[in-house]
Amino acid sequence: MAERLESESRKLLGRLRDAMAGHAAGQERLDEITSLIGTSMGCEVCSIYLFRDAETLELCATKGLNPEAVHQTRMKLGEGLVGQVAKQRTLVNTPDAPNARGFRYMPETGEEIYSSFLGVPIQRLGEALGVLVVQSKSAREFSADEIYALEVVAMVLAEMTELGAFVGEGAAMSARHSQPVMIPGTVGQEGAAEGHVWLHEPRVVVTNPIADDPKREAERLREAVEQLRVGVDKMLQIAGRQDKDQLQVLEAYRMFANSKGWMRRMEEDISNGLSAEAAVEKEQSTARARMSQVTDSYLRERLSDLDDLSNRLLRILTGQGADTGAEMPSDPILVARNIGPAELLEYGRSLKGIVLEQGSVGSHAAIVARALAIPLVVHANRVTTEALNGDHIMVDGEQGIVHLRPDETVGSAFRDKIAMLAAAQERYASIREKPAHTRDGVTISLHMNAGLMADLPSLPSSGAEGVGLFRTELQFLVRNQMPRRAELVALYARVLDAAKGKRVVFRTLDIGSDKVLPYMKPNDEPNPALGWRAIRVGLDKPGIMRMQLQALIRAANGRPLTVMFPFVAQMEEYTEARRLMDKTLAAEARLGHLLPETIEVGAMLETPSLAFAPIKFFEDVDFLSIGGNDLKQFFFAADRENERVRRRYDTLNVSFLSFVERIVERCEATGTAVSFCGEDAGRPVEALCFAAMGLRNLSMRPASIGPVKSLLRRSDLGEVRKVISDARHRGEMSVRPAVMAWLRRQG
Ligand code: PEP
Ligand code: MG
Repeated sequence: MAERLESESRKLLGRLRDAMAGHAAGQERLDEITSLIGTSMGCEVCSIYLFRDAETLELCATKGLNPEAVHQTRMKLGEGLVGQVAKQRTLVNTPDAPNARGFRYMPETGEEIYSSFLGVPIQRLGEALGVLVVQSKSAREFSADEIYALEVVAMVLAEMTELGAFVGEGAAMSARHSQPVMIPGTVGQEGAAEGHVWLHEPRVVVTNPIADDPKREAERLREAVEQLRVGVDKMLQIAGRQDKDQLQVLEAYRMFANSKGWMRRMEEDISNGLSAEAAVEKEQSTARARMSQVTDSYLRERLSDLDDLSNRLLRILTGQGADTGAEMPSDPILVARNIGPAELLEYGRSLKGIVLEQGSVGSHAAIVARALAIPLVVHANRVTTEALNGDHIMVDGEQGIVHLRPDETVGSAFRDKIAMLAAAQERYASIREKPAHTRDGVTISLHMNAGLMADLPSLPSSGAEGVGLFRTELQFLVRNQMPRRAELVALYARVLDAAKGKRVVFRTLDIGSDKVLPYMKPNDEPNPALGWRAIRVGLDKPGIMRMQLQALIRAANGRPLTVMFPFVAQMEEYTEARRLMDKTLAAEARLGHLLPETIEVGAMLETPSLAFAPIKFFEDVDFLSIGGNDLKQFFFAADRENERVRRRYDTLNVSFLSFVERIVERCEATGTAVSFCGEDAGRPVEALCFAAMGLRNLSMRPASIGPVKSLLRRSDLGEVRKVISDARHRGEMSVRPAVMAWLRRQG
């Protein structure tokens, strides 16, 4: 029986291929195909439903149902049995469709007389393209072999759809990858860019899903798998014993590459008439569909390993290596599912924009994109399936929107926006050398945040007075192993050289929470944001902190040095860290190293507790810097990484502003210098309110200095203070509406 079906299935695929080779137009082809499948499977009905848009399926061809319903019958994702197949991306097999759960009666199709129903998803690389259905009058459940045969056909249909076989005048569908698409995402880095798509991992195109000679295909598959195994073994040798995580991934690869089950399923697909590459893709699609349903993180990782391996295998089989011969456009916009910081640094400033399907605002790739000032949109759902190399694309980093293959109206509106942003940049450049002097004569010092060498060219161009926060952990995060002391000395020295005497505040290693070093064993903590992080790690592992302090002292080499400790929650933590600094200084002196000309040691105020530390702490510390990102998350008990709650509480909430004011007052009482270095310092309206609360030193990303300075120079802080105070007296929750109204009145 199985063998008979096998040869039937091969015959059917052969006929499908002939149908494809003929001159019929898209719709005719689809009609012919439904007829072929229906006859071959011995069913009265065969229908093909394809996606009209992301949410709607349309009956595009049928043999057996009412022909009038073609292009008329539509259903939403999840609606009816067909909608269910598409949504769950799994088959539905029932002997009694009209009474099955979820059945929806579509009178125009005349399907109520057909009892049994088998629907399988038409999917390519885990992307659902439509649903293939067979129905018959007799009430029977379809056998495993029949299901399998239909799945193989669906696979071929998916390839044909991808190749545009059903496109044409009045046909089933418009060409894929030709329509304009607007993809909403999340802002990763502001700015706007227009260019052409450069896929980080180009899509593999399979042009020959059907093959005549199963023996030859099986041989090709075996050869390719062998090549893959050798490649994985080689990678294992190179990885050596050092990198445990990498080793683990490669071991998993090897396991899959040797997996008999995987091989057997692909060989079975081939004996049913698929080519070797189509067989790989079919199994990959199944794995991807499963991946979207599995919640266990370990299993998901293994499925994603299998996905990677399938990609490699496809590249070997199709000869489309990572290097497809395509040339990077002159205005590349990088499109990727995700990308690591090191890979992004390799592309460097050649990119005009970046769009990631996953990623997050706080991810390291986002940090690098910001350092390079490249507009970035993250969470751009499905962008890697929609975009093709070379597609025209516009990245709106202000709104977090991507326009793929935009039409002219969108294009010209977008270009207006780019021109407006450029004009604003010009305005900011004209005040670059001027101080942030308010109308009532207060001067605010504006500094920039940095963390990579790539940031430093911004120091002169942004108009920053210095680096108010140098996040030293970024250098640790973008590497595969712990940097050595000598490397750090060289790096910090280069930072100080580039600063040309301007003040640089080096923050010691701030790891833990979301910043996990790839080469350090992650701690399984119930709540990492409240866990073993920043100075807590530094004090518990003084070896690393000492090494870093030594590197900073040696890099300063007699120049002034400014260091601050992150996440200090109580005075004793600062005292202990400072003691370590003093000891290190003494030891360095004994070793004959030149000590810094002056040394300032500060603390970051990132937990509410520190604001209420004994007055002695404020007297002892050389300066304080408010880390608003963390401070705000603990003040409101709202995770800064959690999209659901991240924006729930406004920075201009009266409670938070009053808290900031309180900190400033305590610092004024002791003459302690205080600055604000969280992201909010770079938002003009927030910066204005902080200045009104008495802050005189703000540190922000370089691109924000122009906009913040421009607003400060046009404002009277006394008036802003009055607006804030009135709003407070009126009992308003946030002062934002009042301040915005005042700004509008100012024009
Ligand atoms: C902060 O918490 O505000 C801060 C500046 O530090 P980071 O964002 O690196 O935690
Ligand atoms: Mg912080």
